[in-house]
Amino acid sequence: MNEKILQIENLTVNFDGFRALNDLNFSLDKGELRVIIGPNGAGKTTFLDVITGKTKPTTGQVTFKGKPTQGKVEYEIARMGVGRKFQTPRVYLNLTPRENLELSCNRHKNVWNALFGAPSRAEARTVTGLLETIRLETKADLKADLLSHGEKQRLEIGMLVAQSPDLLLVDEPVAGLTDEETENVGTLLLALAESHSIIVIEHDMEFVRQIARKVTVLHQGSVLCEGSMDDVQNDPRVIEVYLGK
Ligand code: ADP
Repeated sequence: MNEKILQIENLTVNFDGFRALNDLNFSLDKGELRVIIGPNGAGKTTFLDVITGKTKPTTGQVTFKGKPTQGKVEYEIARMGVGRKFQTPRVYLNLTPRENLELSCNRHKNVWNALFGAPSRAEARTVTGLLETIRLETKADLKADLLSHGEKQRLEIGMLVAQSPDLLLVDEPVAGLTDEETENVGTLLLALAESHSIIVIEHDMEFVRQIARKVTVLHQGSVLCEGSMDDVQNDPRVIEVYLGK
């Protein structure tokens, strides 16, 4: 059996009596790229919030790398190796892509070093490699403010990878991007999937088709079904949920 990096058992989250997640079970193999889809309000954001420790489960258990995350706060779970990219890019606009990546590499050191320390040779190599991976070599020393929205998304994914997480959580990375930018982000995620475990939440079905090997459909806080994109698109339950037929 494949090694599991993440296991979620019987997860329920209640908000003031409203059940956002309802007895949800989920597991992710080490090295797997999984896309989560589902209509608005299905519980996708809450699901990521529980994994990162932002939201505490009402009942149920999350196990990451074989260890329960129960009782841990967000920064402790981040230190265990969970990295999250939010929907809108959070890059430092008056720094260059190279500086943004250097800062991310330095995060685990003290704040002074992170802001003012010169990168070590190993860090400089990592940053150069990441600039290639996110295909921003030619814009490495421009202010990030000058990047397109898609380039900023790629930079922020690079910043996440610079922190060497074992699991990347990526929330709607292509919302508002052009077709070309969307394809570039897809290519980047597929390249990262060679060496990372990744969960992506996404609405854009063309994009899901580009990157997904396995898709999980959430509905009313539970897993409705899982499988290949073809499997889930042809599942009558999914058609009913999306089209109301
Ligand atoms: P999705 O990301 O799939 O659109 P969410 O996880 O954001 O779904 O939300 C799931 C449900 O939980 C929604 O009905 C939402 O209104 C509700 N919800 C989310 N966060 C809270 C909260 N902090 N308090 C009350 N209800 C919430």
